[in-house]
Amino acid sequence: AAALRERAVCVAGLGVSGPPVVRALLARGARVSVVDAREDDATLDLARELRAEGARVLLGEHTLPAETDLVVTSPGWRPDAPLLAQAGAAGVEIAGDVELAWRLRPAGQRWLAITGTNGKTTTVRMLEAMLRADGRDALAVGNVGTPIMAAALPGGPRPAPDLLAVELSSFQLHWSATLAPHAAAVLNVAPDHLDWHGGLEAYAAAKGRIYAPGTLRVANADDAWSTHLARTCGDPAAPLYGFTLGTPRAGQIGVVEDLLVDRAFAADPQGGAEELASLADVVPAAPHNVANALAAAALARSVGAAPESVRAGLAAFAPEPHRMAPLGSVAGVDYVDDSKATNPHAAAAALASFASVVWVAGGLLKGAEVEDLVREAAPRLRAAVLLGRDRDRLRAALARHAPDAAVVEVEAAAGEDAMEQVVRAAAGLARPGDTVLLAPAAASMDMFTDYKERGRRFAEAVAARA
Ligand code: ADP
Repeated sequence: AAALRERAVCVAGLGVSGPPVVRALLARGARVSVVDAREDDATLDLARELRAEGARVLLGEHTLPAETDLVVTSPGWRPDAPLLAQAGAAGVEIAGDVELAWRLRPAGQRWLAITGTNGKTTTVRMLEAMLRADGRDALAVGNVGTPIMAAALPGGPRPAPDLLAVELSSFQLHWSATLAPHAAAVLNVAPDHLDWHGGLEAYAAAKGRIYAPGTLRVANADDAWSTHLARTCGDPAAPLYGFTLGTPRAGQIGVVEDLLVDRAFAADPQGGAEELASLADVVPAAPHNVANALAAAALARSVGAAPESVRAGLAAFAPEPHRMAPLGSVAGVDYVDDSKATNPHAAAAALASFASVVWVAGGLLKGAEVEDLVREAAPRLRAAVLLGRDRDRLRAALARHAPDAAVVEVEAAAGEDAMEQVVRAAAGLARPGDTVLLAPAAASMDMFTDYKERGRRFAEAVAARA
């Protein structure tokens, strides 16, 4: 922290992570400038507040203030944004908010880190629940709940916890040069955000950085990328454990009949496996979510949590909204909101959980392919209702791989009653016993503020029919 006194730090971006970063820097005596291209009312209000606290705020700006020593960037900014490119060319250090929190963490605090294309939020929250059931002072940080800058630091709104369950996006890992968690897991890697990273290899490599020198490695034995990254990016001298939906080998946590069992951290890994929980303890019940529970269990066990605490944590865990959330049934048809399925990999997991589906999909595909997704889901598809900007690609894939599925397109634009039209169409196509599943495989911003608004509008339209 002494290293920040009188240093000129530029905070790039006044998004969600910006304000707590600015405040933490000011509290440590840094000279802080904030740059943001936006000039809307909310940003102006925030700028006024931060100026009163001592920051210099430059709105409508894109360039690096002169004589900057360090840039702390928002994870949302593209690496080729002019300010970041300028800093890179000038040899000015660039760090993300996570990297800053890591450098400022109190002595003795241990980080358990989780990344992956899908399941991060769910898994850090499961891990937090397991650790708390074990009597630990643990806190989950990431996209949901406490921002990392507020959680990790002494003098923050709550005493700094002993253990952090940290959700890390590939963007944050890209800007985390010295981060070295106690233990880490890559849940899975599938194409997403390729436009930001410039390709799958670069995206995967960013995720691999979570396995730092000395970090205990937890890998998904059923995911080729996760296993590959743990072996090649991780510290070969650090322990390596796996999790699998199949029968675990020595060194793995897995599933035997209807039980989650531990052959990694069990008292005698060569001998008997230790029972952790039942499949029935995992909510929502879906194979991909069992994988999340196994990853959380491995990380909890890596710091000595008792087997009973895994079960107790799963019992205490409440899923976040818009992740396979059941909305009830109307006329014998179940409705499920998985609006958080913003990429094809998440949508595939959701589709695989139901036998006969009317699939609501479409939005911004972010450069992702949908051919494999549609081919694999085809036997389960009664019909599809498409919305959003990139629906043509979905329509073409459905015509190729699921010719028997009826397809309806909703042409409504943002601000119109798109979801009412979607639900009306879906209800007309569904038969009793089917599931109408919102799992768009795409981002929402062409029509909605975010995935939450998309999910909420879907739920409202369903409720209006009940
Ligand atoms: P993230 O924080 O990585 O976005 P979430 O837990 O919020 O992860 O879940 C995001 C989406 O991915 C949801 O639609 C959810 O149903 C789906 N999902 C969750 N876990 C997995 C997994 N292990 N594999 C595939 N999809 C998953």
